[in-house]
Amino acid sequence: MSAEPRLMLVLNSGSSSLKFAVHDTEHPTPLLFGLAERLGGENAVITFREADRKKVLPLEAANHTAALDALLAELSHHGWLDRLAAVGHRVAHGGERFTHSTLITPDVIADIDACSALAPLHNPAAVLGIRMALARLPNIPHAAVFDTAFHQTLKPEAYLYALPMSLYREQRVRRYGFHGTSYRFVAREAVRLLGLDPADHGLVIAHLGNGASATAVQDGQSVDTSMGMTPLEGLVMGTRSGDVDPGALLHIMRMLGLSVDQLDALLNKQSGLLGLSELSNDCRELEAAAERGHAGAQFGLEVFVHRLARYVGGLAMSLRRLDAVVFTGGIGENSVRMRAMTVTRLRALGLTLDEATNAVTTGGQAGLISAVGSSARIAVVPTNEEWMIVCDTAELADRAVLESA
Ligand code: ADP
Repeated sequence: MSAEPRLMLVLNSGSSSLKFAVHDTEHPTPLLFGLAERLGGENAVITFREADRKKVLPLEAANHTAALDALLAELSHHGWLDRLAAVGHRVAHGGERFTHSTLITPDVIADIDACSALAPLHNPAAVLGIRMALARLPNIPHAAVFDTAFHQTLKPEAYLYALPMSLYREQRVRRYGFHGTSYRFVAREAVRLLGLDPADHGLVIAHLGNGASATAVQDGQSVDTSMGMTPLEGLVMGTRSGDVDPGALLHIMRMLGLSVDQLDALLNKQSGLLGLSELSNDCRELEAAAERGHAGAQFGLEVFVHRLARYVGGLAMSLRRLDAVVFTGGIGENSVRMRAMTVTRLRALGLTLDEATNAVTTGGQAGLISAVGSSARIAVVPTNEEWMIVCDTAELADRAVLESA
């Protein structure tokens, strides 16, 4: 028998895309990862990436099943198909039903489907991906890992909107929060990096990518977070508005005669850094443009930072004590400038940055970037959501074997 470690496949099925990663259970770096995109449209392609190699293939029948078949053929080509031990599916919304990752059963699929009302774009795509993968890989366990599950520890005062309670009771309208898998991973790594007590700590973590949010983590549990019922609330994002006065939205709809779908597109696709800068949703591009004196880029970044600092300060008030502010996600891990701008705005909390360590902590490195004397520490911790999904899936698969023995 081979002593090679088992392999885990991570799938993230979107409405027109399928992201994937293949890991062995011993290394946080994937063996193979990539993306099938433009599924259901013209020119669908699948891109495979390995350590030093990239391969792009056209997909003839441009649907999710064709993409999975191309991926399985690639695994077979590497001789990896036989070592595949389980599949972990990333699912956007677990509602109040899912507080942890879980093995997939017909009941679980029905419950994920039932959460589709809360995430009409994301959950149906996840269900499609799960059904398809079960059909192709029926003899190994499949697990679902939810973006919302980590935040199910929020108390009612943190998750309720001040709307008529009937909306919560009957429609489950409340705050759920997202990026939970990332927060779970980063919180654990931050506790280790900073030598904190796993049972007694307070962190504010800012996950800043194309989607951006921030979360207060106390003793390993989420106690408050910036995203709400959907991933639209809170921080300024690449193309999403984050917080807007609901009254302003009513005004915009009335004045411009927008339909619900048009307002949806405006808030999700035309706003955020893109809307403010009238240039790009990409932070790195905006930093370069701001350097050249582009005014829109400059105040796009400033609004982003202002909102972020306001959230970090506010979230800290849900903690017993603030031990550290932690940056993660593409912007949090790489942007020396955005971290410096944010910490400057947090001076009222007594936070101070070490400019030299801030300047060199980029490109996937973890490290401490606060100055000696800062009221709490400031750290950079690269996220690895896929690895967290691998760990959960392996654990659930092992437990299933033990329970059936
Ligand atoms: P996603 O949410 O899609 O996973 P990422 O976490 O990869 O996104 O983050 C993407 C964002 O990170 C983009 O706005 C990109 O410009 C930004 N980013 C990546 N590298 C840098 C950098 N060196 N400086 C500033 N921003 C960066």
